[in-house]
Amino acid sequence: MEATVISRDSAEHDGQQEGTVNVSVLQVEDLRKRYSADTQLVCDGLNFMVNGGEFVAIIGPSGCGKSTLLRMLSGILPPTSGQVLLYGDVVRKPPPEMALVFQDYARSLYPWLTVEKNVRFPLARRRDIAKAERDARVDAAILSVGLDGFENYYPGQLSGGMQQRVAIARALAFQPRILLLDEPFASVDALTKEGLEDTLLRVRDWLGSENNTMLMVTHDIDEAIYLADRIVILSKPPCVVTEELVVNLQRPRNQLATRSDPEFLRIRAFIHGVMGLTDQRNGA
Ligand code: ADP
Repeated sequence: MEATVISRDSAEHDGQQEGTVNVSVLQVEDLRKRYSADTQLVCDGLNFMVNGGEFVAIIGPSGCGKSTLLRMLSGILPPTSGQVLLYGDVVRKPPPEMALVFQDYARSLYPWLTVEKNVRFPLARRRDIAKAERDARVDAAILSVGLDGFENYYPGQLSGGMQQRVAIARALAFQPRILLLDEPFASVDALTKEGLEDTLLRVRDWLGSENNTMLMVTHDIDEAIYLADRIVILSKPPCVVTEELVVNLQRPRNQLATRSDPEFLRIRAFIHGVMGLTDQRNGA
């Protein structure tokens, strides 16, 4: 069983993918979290980085601290020690250069606003951006997720998958320098999930290599391999980074061809081994 595992020291160099921008966007330095003095340590010194234009997936067992980590990365939750740097600046509150997409799209969208108004919402306060520019961003974001024609629909008139596409469009309209995704497709059925994964990959192409840096937290190993350039594996709690590996699968990816590529299966078996899982589907 082999996979391109990169050492913690060489991650910056070896993790670089062809076509990505060699600039560290996000740096996670010795991040620790304990919610209170009488609770267990959740994160025990996490170190990793995300380079410009990279798609990094963070995977780990349920309860290991993935959501805790994401909340620290986004400045919502202060770490107990260590720090998160975004373009070299310490993250102490939600930075304007970051956007988040959550699993629970039903709660993240405003049911009383149309698709167009939901997507526009975070831009409404950006008076530094001319109205014509805001309009163009909203139109482009809606188009990028394939919801043109549905601008005047309300969330309740859309399927779950379409609602999650609205949430993605809203994050994109903001033109973040990094998009964080917290188990974004965990609440939809398997087919819808595949469609949303492909929407996300199309959106990355549409964004271009300088603005398409993404970090996704997921418990779905196959989804991580299908989407990512690099995968960071977390241990059981208190979590540390147990492994980082490069996903050398060619792009554009395809749900059938990519998932049956021998390299995909090899990485999958490797991750199952690292996480102590038995891969019954492939007999590994
Ligand atoms: P994951 O996203 O990997 O499932 P979480 O980050 O949600 O894991 O949770 C990791 C651990 O942190 C769990 O043991 C959970 O009980 C604990 N935890 C999460 N939120 C809080 C909180 N607000 N207060 C205390 N403990 C918490």
